[in-house]
Amino acid sequence: MTKKNIRGMLANYDKKKLTIATVCSHSSLQIFNGAKKEGFKTLGISVGEKKKLYDAFPLGKPDDFFIVKNYKDILNYTDELQEKNVIIIPHGSFVEYLGPNKFMELEIPTFGNKLVLDWESDRKKERIWLEGAGLTMPKEIENPKNINRPVIVKYHGAKGGKGFFVAKTYNEFQKRIDKNKKYSIQEFVMGTRYYIHYFYSPVQNNAYKLSKGSLQLLSMDRRDETTIDEVQRLGSIAELEELGIHPTFVVTGNIPIVMRESLLPKVFEMGEVVVEKSLELFGGIIGSFCLETVVTEDLEFKVFEISARIVAGTNPYVSGSPYSELIQPGLSTGRRIAQEIKYANKKNLLNEILS
Ligand code: AMP
Repeated sequence: MTKKNIRGMLANYDKKKLTIATVCSHSSLQIFNGAKKEGFKTLGISVGEKKKLYDAFPLGKPDDFFIVKNYKDILNYTDELQEKNVIIIPHGSFVEYLGPNKFMELEIPTFGNKLVLDWESDRKKERIWLEGAGLTMPKEIENPKNINRPVIVKYHGAKGGKGFFVAKTYNEFQKRIDKNKKYSIQEFVMGTRYYIHYFYSPVQNNAYKLSKGSLQLLSMDRRDETTIDEVQRLGSIAELEELGIHPTFVVTGNIPIVMRESLLPKVFEMGEVVVEKSLELFGGIIGSFCLETVVTEDLEFKVFEISARIVAGTNPYVSGSPYSELIQPGLSTGRRIAQEIKYANKKNLLNEILS
């Protein structure tokens, strides 16, 4: 959608009655909670009735529900949603349920820059972006015959690490690979994982200053992945593999974490170069994003993925994190998004943060 279209749509919006909407899943409780705290009306888009679940969390419950038969149907209701002055907050499940093409077509003002989708979903382009910014990514192994160290094999489009496996030799790779699926092979980086949640505002200058706007560090998490994270309760991975039991990388939850303070300058430098490069490549990544990293024993960061919107790893911090507490008490990512919309609305800059 062009800036002109957005401007046209916003011109018809009642700016005093903006409604924050998202799909009822992923990080929606936090998004609704944050929007309510900032005085917005909220709308939960869902397939089937979800009221029963949200009744259990009154402070995370949207004011209204918008029930659809299928998430892809949202495209048929754009007029209705526009009449409700809706701004969509996309999260990982929102994009997945709608599908990337339909998400791009969706004619409703959406928080963030949709163009980023192209750069994060194509592994080659993601590498051009992140390595071009100066980050170190795990090495890619083009030919499986060259596997001479532990690697992680990733199937394209697999969500939540599903189907990923580890191999240490070509032989192991051959035994496990499903050749009908597209895959890539990455060096398995040894170290500790940190999933770092940033917020970039192109319109406010009250944080870590960039060439345009400023950057915040809101929180960090470590993902809990079944079965890899607890497999050692049964025996060593090598032992289990001999029995044909292979660890999997399916995300089931998120654990709060903080990083040693001496690494924080590097954390900001990484966020900075990612944003600066995004401004150059596609007009900028706007709002929340997450760098998925491994810190090695030499205290070097290797970045294996970027998520360009709110991630579920922010969910432990509905009432603030050890980092966001130093910005404003009780600040969640959901609330920070609502604040950005409120600020841009007041300054007549909504066009700068929506697409
Ligand atoms: P992803 O879908 O790329 O986020 O990967 C799923 C999970 O696999 C991550 O959360 C990590 O636990 C693990 N992982 C992915 N890439 C690597 C890597 N290069 N080295 C070590 N672990 C990795």
